[in-house]
Amino acid sequence: MWFDSHCHLDSENCSVEQRAAVLARARAAGVERLVTVGVGGPAAMREAVALSAVRGPATSSEQLEPRIWATAGIHPHDAESLDPELERLLRECLARPRVVALGEVGLDYHYDHSPRERQREVFVQMIALARELRKPLVIHTREAAADTLEILTAEGAREVGGIIHCFSEDREFARRALELDFDLSFSGIATFKSARSIQEVAAWAPPERILLETDSPYLSPVPLRGKRCEPAFVVHTAQRLADLRGIALEQLAELTTANAVRRFRVD
Ligand SMILES: [Zn+2]
Ligand SMILES: [Zn+2]
Repeated sequence: MWFDSHCHLDSENCSVEQRAAVLARARAAGVERLVTVGVGGPAAMREAVALSAVRGPATSSEQLEPRIWATAGIHPHDAESLDPELERLLRECLARPRVVALGEVGLDYHYDHSPRERQREVFVQMIALARELRKPLVIHTREAAADTLEILTAEGAREVGGIIHCFSEDREFARRALELDFDLSFSGIATFKSARSIQEVAAWAPPERILLETDSPYLSPVPLRGKRCEPAFVVHTAQRLADLRGIALEQLAELTTANAVRRFRVD
């Protein structure tokens, strides 16, 4: 029923001991598909790809798990660490059949873990790689709206399109992102009281351009704030979006899942 289009299930973010239970709870909550994001260095990237690999004939416990795809990318936090060796690994990961997008990549001027100039250089490089490999982009942008839009436009990101993950900008940003063929993915932030302008966009955005995500283990939605987030929680964000749009939960499930399936080109 649900598609969590962005979560982090590598062992840095979800311990191996917890993972089976997390996946079982996701499936029990109706999350049939999810995309785990391979960023944070070589180990996390490899793990995300391994998680997405199709296993042998499903055991009865695996039948209770969601189907998993992966991304691979260089988070803006890690821009400084990109060297030829890491790029080689990234290309290797992106060549795998269930690695459906390049990301998350972009700009983060809130934490500034990597120098901004380097973040911009790597972002430009990642867009070029996505175009070369014909993969959609998963974009992370924080306090960098103008530069993000400018680089996406100048570097021809429209050719591949993708997703603005964890959408937390305003309507004007949304309008321009949609024009650039980027869908808007809403996380638990959309349930926060303070998130007026995000909720306005969630209510207004074209139905065929909205996705849902948890970005777990971060950003638990209301009423689970403070808890460690996991894919099962996507339902709470969904309920808020359905209320904002004045549609039934089932209808929201149907359209957001169809949108993610189409964007990631999965079945
Ligand atoms: Zn992010
Ligand atoms: Zn993320």
